[in-house]
This record gives sequence, C-alpha cells and structure tokens, in this order.
Amino acid sequence: MKKHNFSAGPCILPQEVLLKASGAVMDFNGSGLSLIEISHRSKDFIAVMENARSLAIELLGLEGKGYKALFLQGGASMQFLMVAYNLLETKAGYLNTGAWSDKAIKEAKLFGEVIEVGCSKDENFKYIPKGYHVPKGLDFLHLTSNNTIFGTQLKKFPKTDAPLVCDMSSDIFSRQMDFSQFDLIYAGAQKNMGPAGTTLVVVKEDILGKVSRKIPSILDYQVHISKDSMFNTPAVFPVYVSMLTLEWLKNMGGIAAIEEINRKKAQLLYSEIDLSPVFNGYANKEDRSLMNATFDLTDDKLKEPFETMLKEAGINGLNGHRSVGGYRASMYNALSLESVGILVDVMSEMERKG
Ligand SMILES: *Cc1c(COP(=O)(O)O)cnc(C)c1O
Repeated sequence: MKKHNFSAGPCILPQEVLLKASGAVMDFNGSGLSLIEISHRSKDFIAVMENARSLAIELLGLEGKGYKALFLQGGASMQFLMVAYNLLETKAGYLNTGAWSDKAIKEAKLFGEVIEVGCSKDENFKYIPKGYHVPKGLDFLHLTSNNTIFGTQLKKFPKTDAPLVCDMSSDIFSRQMDFSQFDLIYAGAQKNMGPAGTTLVVVKEDILGKVSRKIPSILDYQVHISKDSMFNTPAVFPVYVSMLTLEWLKNMGGIAAIEEINRKKAQLLYSEIDLSPVFNGYANKEDRSLMNATFDLTDDKLKEPFETMLKEAGINGLNGHRSVGGYRASMYNALSLESVGILVDVMSEMERKG
C-alpha cells in the first residue's frame, strides 16, 4: 500500500532522490565503489560538496552577495551555540517563538546577555509576537522562521541594524523571500533537504571575525569557510542526498515552483480544519505554518476511530509533539498534494461518521 508520510523530521524525501541515493550506495558514478567507502578528498566527492554548496546559494538567490554555504555536523542544535560562539560579544536579541528558540536562548546565555525581544510562551507558542521593539546595538538578532512543534511561521521579518540570524530548519527552500535580509541562516538537513547528519549554514562572510574570544577550530565558521567545508570528514552520505534534493528542487523550478504547491497543500488542509466541526486548529490563523499544521479532534471519543482510519489509508507520522498533543501534519516539499488530499478525505469521512 502507498504510504503518505506526514512525519515531522526526519521526514519524506523525493522518491527519485531515494532511488539515486540507494544506487550510489552500491556504485557511485559507475566507479564500482560505494559513495560511502571512498575518500572525501577524492575528486568525485569534492564535486558533490561543491555542487551542494553552490546549489544552496543559487536556490536562495544569494550568488555574488558575499555568502558562503557550509555543510556542518551536530545538527541545528550545534548552531544554537556556534552562532553565539562566533557572533555574541556582549548582547544579542532573540525572538522566542517556541521550544527551539528557547533552546537557542539557553545556549546563547553561556556567552553573553540575551534580550528576549518577544515571547509567546504565555499561550504555549500558538502565536507569533508582533509589534515588539528591537533595541539598537545588538550583536545580532535571532529568529526561528518556522516553529515545527507549534505550527506557526513568521510571515514578516523585523528590520534591524544588527546582523539577522535565522533558524530555518523546518521551512528552508519552501517559500520565496528575500534571503539577503539575513546574515546567517542555518537548517538541519532532515526536514526539507536530506537525511539527518548534516546542517546547512549560509553565512555572510563580513559578519565574522568580530568577537574577541578564541574559538575552537571546529566551532569557527571562518575555519570551515577556509577549508571549503572540509575541515574534517564531512557527513558524506547526508551531503550527497542533500545535493540530490537540491537538484530535484532546481529541476522542478526552484523555490517559486515548490511554494505554489506548498500553498495549495496547506490551503486544502486548513480549509478542512476550519470547516469541519470535529477538528480544531491549534495555531492562530494568521500565523499558521505552510509546513506543519497542528490540530486536534474536538471530541476525544473520535480518537480511536480516527486513528484506525488513518492507518487504513496508509497515513504515517501524524502524532502531535508531546508538548502540544493532538495531531501535526508536516507537509514538507517532497509531500505531494495527492497525499494531503488523502488525509483530507479521511478527515471528512470522520466528520460524516462523527
Ligand atoms: C528540528 C529542529 C531543530 C533541531 O534540529 P537538530 O538537527 O535535531 O539539532 C532546530 N530548530 C528547528 C526549527 C527544528 O525544526
């Protein structure tokens, strides 16, 4: 039976990417060797790394603007501290829009003063704070563009004189925006790009080298830039699969094309949530995410029949995060409109039965 994978991360990847990746595990570029048993310094793997880096810059529209793309390890969670290590001299601003921002703040506090410019913890992060004040003189302002757990997304980004840093782990490459408004973007691969194990960092070089502390080599963006993202053995397989996904995205028309599909998917699901008396949305309507839709049943008695129906339809990964409960449908780039249609069919059948 065809599966419809709504998992929040690691999550769905394009079928053709999985097919090519599995082929390369057995025989990479017709070499008779596996991608994962050759040197990362071989010509063939260096080409993979360079291609992945330049595709990332190209798809984000950042060519010739002073940015470098890196594929690092340690997940987005490592970036929580690396950002602060490299950029925080005295004080930084953080917009606290969810559990991931909260964790980023915790790490930053090890390095300097953190000013929470806004926070939506009072309503368990179901909205994005607005009209908040950003003080002058910050070392940087940190945002989380999409709050994977709560299903909210930033639609507008504040203007500030400080470098703008953004955790885009769960919505990078999913919607068009002026990416040059950011000075550093990071994203764990496992939500819109590839397997877990590598993290994309896109950084404007001129913001680096300004803190007075000494930075261990492996945590220093400048070291990684100078080594072309090969300071140590990179996560060869995750980087390769990320490259394939970025190629797939480019071939289908880039971010503009995928955004159109993502909007259709989200609209289809949210209109079902809003029209149906048996479902309630979690996030504030105006702040809803195109990637992660959070909702719940209005009647607990429907839980069992609903979950049986989901299973019968081949729908996977719909459980909400434990801090929100209910359901979460993650609609990342590789998820088809057809899969969302199947989910919505099950939801409307639930309504008829409920
Ligand atoms: C998943 C996620 C993270 C954590 O990523 P790891 O790679 O597991 O460290 C951080 N931020 C956001 C927004 C996420 O969705």
